[in-house]
Amino acid sequence: MIDTNHKIEFNPEACIGCQICYKACFVDVIRWDEENRRPVFQYVEDCEHCEYCEAKCPKGCIRVIPDYSSQSFRQTFNRYSKGSRELWED
Ligand code: SF4
Ligand code: SF4
Repeated sequence: MIDTNHKIEFNPEACIGCQICYKACFVDVIRWDEENRRPVFQYVEDCEHCEYCEAKCPKGCIRVIPDYSSQSFRQTFNRYSKGSRELWED
């Protein structure tokens, strides 16, 4: 199990059901509830913190809150950083 406390806040009242966030998410954290025309956030521990969903939402409904101390964030950092791996080794 991945040790993480990532959060994604969502305001369903302001959402207009445009699907932009759903289409933007490349890791399938954001699913789509066809019946209610709203995004569903699942497996938030897999979020890669690109913040594309938050940036592209036309109504400001989404806020991505990474847990910077978590194991999964360190995995992401190690993958994309330049030579800083030793900073995050346990
Ligand atoms: S921040 Fe990126 S990876 Fe995370 S839920 Fe939003 S679009 Fe998906
Ligand atoms: S981008 Fe924003 S308004 Fe559009 S479906 Fe997602 S949360 Fe709702």
